[in-house]
Amino acid sequence: MSTISTNLQAVQNHIADAAQKADRPPASVHLLAVSKTCPAQAVIEAARAGQHAFGENYEQEAIRKIQQIKEIAPDLALEWHFIGPIQSNKTRGIAAHFDWVHSVDRERIARRLSEQRPAGLPPLNVCLQINISHENSKSGVNAQEIIALAKTVSQLPGLKLRGLMAIPEPEDNPEKQHEPFRQMKNLYDELREQGYDLDTLSMGMTADMDAAIAEGATIVRIGTAIFGARN
Ligand SMILES: *Cc1c(COP(=O)(O)O)cnc(C)c1O
Repeated sequence: MSTISTNLQAVQNHIADAAQKADRPPASVHLLAVSKTCPAQAVIEAARAGQHAFGENYEQEAIRKIQQIKEIAPDLALEWHFIGPIQSNKTRGIAAHFDWVHSVDRERIARRLSEQRPAGLPPLNVCLQINISHENSKSGVNAQEIIALAKTVSQLPGLKLRGLMAIPEPEDNPEKQHEPFRQMKNLYDELREQGYDLDTLSMGMTADMDAAIAEGATIVRIGTAIFGARN
């Protein structure tokens, strides 16, 4: 077996264990393989090993890779998730080539993605990125603005609001990793109580997936544990 397929299997097992420890069905946690900076060949290898959904951060790199994979392996029907910061001039490419966007954090970007979603494609699945650690430098909408953004996004015809996403500040102590994820789960439950039809909590990366799963993640975004360390 290749390294990638071995890693993938190990990550799948890890997710299933973490879900079981949290009394959750393993199938309630989906794996998004984060392939940013990885060559098309690595994605194809993971796809041949059964991985379906891939996450990318950089629009140009991603679109080139998506097109390359379509040429090399036209039989693969992959699901592409955009998870990086979004500049206005990148929305057209993202709206045309992706199935999901996890990093919508302002109205202007949401409106552009909706307008630029090509006719004939289903609405783009959207998560609102929450600035859960309150870092000034990080992207993400602040807690007070979430409801307003959720309302806007849920009314845009080219988008389908699916849930929330966050990248908490890195924390080495596994005990302390839980708090921001718990806050995310509370926000998610609050929006659902207000009538928003959400089914997705995108949280947890290689270093903190256990805590995220314990607190209710439905998508974990894993790069390093599958593809190895990035440069
Ligand atoms: C790179 C990245 C990941 C994957 O991180 P790993 O630590 O390699 O698992 C997940 N989410 C986002 C938003 C990222 O940019």
